[in-house]
Amino acid sequence: NMRDLILKMITDIVENSVDLSISDDQASSDWDLNELNSLLLPIIPLETITAENHPVTKKNELKHMLKEEAIKLYEAKEAEFQEAEQIRELDEAGAQYVHIDVMDGMFVPSISFGMPVLASIKGHTQQVMDVHLMVTEPIRYVEDFAKAGADILTVHVEACENLVETVDKIHACGMKAGVSIKPNTPVSALEPVLDKTEMFLIMSVEPGFGGQAFIPESLDKIKELRNLLNARGIQADIEVDGGIYHSNVKEVLNAGANVIVAGSAVFKGNVAENVKGFMEILSANE
Ligand code: ZN
Repeated sequence: NMRDLILKMITDIVENSVDLSISDDQASSDWDLNELNSLLLPIIPLETITAENHPVTKKNELKHMLKEEAIKLYEAKEAEFQEAEQIRELDEAGAQYVHIDVMDGMFVPSISFGMPVLASIKGHTQQVMDVHLMVTEPIRYVEDFAKAGADILTVHVEACENLVETVDKIHACGMKAGVSIKPNTPVSALEPVLDKTEMFLIMSVEPGFGGQAFIPESLDKIKELRNLLNARGIQADIEVDGGIYHSNVKEVLNAGANVIVAGSAVFKGNVAENVKGFMEILSANE
């Protein structure tokens, strides 16, 4: 399988193909530069591993460094496989969206993955890629996320200088638009985009960290928004993100939400069973 193949490739390069006996007069003729390049360039710029920078006296040091880097690379690949495996489990259990949080370290204090990971997940599933940008001025990244494979792109009211323009750009790039409000932002902040947004995301915890408790007042906001949408004859989705478990999901649905984000509640323990539990409650509620 893929995993063994990569491990073998790395071992080959470190142990065999890469002859690190650099001669004084010849920089790197014994190295399989192409192979090294494709594997290690993302982590070590090739110019740093020439004989010039690493005289013969540093040979062992260099070999050690390469091995360390190869192990890091392998671990990164391994994490990617595990992610793919989790996504496959989600698929099989009947989840419909993959919700991906993107944080910039400014709008929220944390930083999380972005486009490369989205692109790699996209290759493993047919599920809807639901990308939640917790990012200041997200309009800057709309095209990039469209290219990386996002199907729904959700931005925060609080993070946009021009919300209407941002939603229009998301549509122009061929995606569905989502608009989110943080716990302290009123539903009225959604007014400018009420009739042009496919999904509204009510944050039921402060965005940025997993594992927080559901803020009970969120239920009132969900109800208020659903009533407002109904009164205008708008059929948009209401997604709720934060602190949702099997124990409180019914209340959230009853308030008027129809898309549920669950992180800890899905990934702690048996993924398949957790998702099935949610899907049963969701379909009973339809
Ligand atoms: Zn989210």
